[in-house]
Amino acid sequence: MENKLRLDIVTPHGLVLSEDVDEVAATGTDGEFGVLPGHVPFITTLKIGMLVLKKGSDTEYVFVSSGYAEVSPDKVVILADSAEKSEGIDVERAKAAMKRAEERLKKAEEIDFVRATAALERATIRIQIAEKRVAR
Ligand code: ATP
Repeated sequence: MENKLRLDIVTPHGLVLSEDVDEVAATGTDGEFGVLPGHVPFITTLKIGMLVLKKGSDTEYVFVSSGYAEVSPDKVVILADSAEKSEGIDVERAKAAMKRAEERLKKAEEIDFVRATAALERATIRIQIAEKRVAR
């Protein structure tokens, strides 16, 4: 479709989203980036973060854990360990994950700090996206 980007988000659990959008913004490991139709091709690794999709006057938020983005002029493919559309986020589960991670981080010597920090980050961003959903 002219002046649109096809966005595919794929995880080991399957296709999370495949739709035409006007703009995509994501958090790469080298910083945030935005993609409009016609963007030069590039590949980047992604950090745990939120994808922001613009469709006309609509903005949608999608949780993406670490993975890759492959950008071409008419397509963005996201390959992520896990991803959820805003409405697919279970807030109670994210809050429980956040609590577990915070408890682990308090016992700093016994635990895998990097793993617990990443779990905390995933839970925090899931909750942030779910809060945007409530605010709409
Ligand atoms: P948890 O400890 O609750 O499993 P996690 O951050 O370790 O959280 P992930 O490894 O990112 O979970 O994801 C494992 C699977 O569970 C993925 O399919 C992911 O989409 C799903 N998932 C995890 N947390 C949530 C959530 N709060 N709402 C919806 N799906 C979730």
